[in-house]
Amino acid sequence: LERIAKISATIRVIPDFPKPGIMFQDITTLLLDPVAFKDTIDLFVERYKHMNISVVAGVEARGFIFGPPIALAIGAKFVPIRKPKKLPGEVISEEYSLEYGTDKMEMHVGAVQPGDRALVVDDLIATGGTLCAAMKLLERVEAHVVECACVIELAELKGRDRLGEKPLFVLVSST
Ligand code: 5GP
Repeated sequence: LERIAKISATIRVIPDFPKPGIMFQDITTLLLDPVAFKDTIDLFVERYKHMNISVVAGVEARGFIFGPPIALAIGAKFVPIRKPKKLPGEVISEEYSLEYGTDKMEMHVGAVQPGDRALVVDDLIATGGTLCAAMKLLERVEAHVVECACVIELAELKGRDRLGEKPLFVLVSST
């Protein structure tokens, strides 16, 4: 696919960020290319517009870049899933493990209703821990997670397996 190849070409790889040995996939260069950015959103919208999605849940921080334009285009609400102590209202939280230690994700109580059909959006899946925590938050309030969507998958880290049965849709798979 021509659009995918162009999107892939706009993603910059920065070695040794944020730590030595890490090849950081930088999507800010994708955002500098209005055609690639629009194609990215369009590809997700084409996939999800007829799937009855009622909520797009975006994961902080880069899920806040890709999630809202998808939500607007498919007529779904947007709900931010945030790092601890950012959301002002009552929250539920879910802990998840990192390479060293743990972190948490939070979601506002009442933002998502039982029976809501959710799409979880982030820029990239590595180990899958972040998307798992986001899905758990949605499932705890009895939403149905239809799918997770990312621009990039780091396939070697097998995050897809960690999601279990839950479908994952990505535009670019990187090795
Ligand atoms: P995971 O929980 O799947 O191991 O890590 C995914 C999370 O870390 C995502 O929220 C993603 O934004 C961030 N992340 C990890 N590595 C990268 C990277 O190379 N590039 C970008 N843009 N985000 C990354």
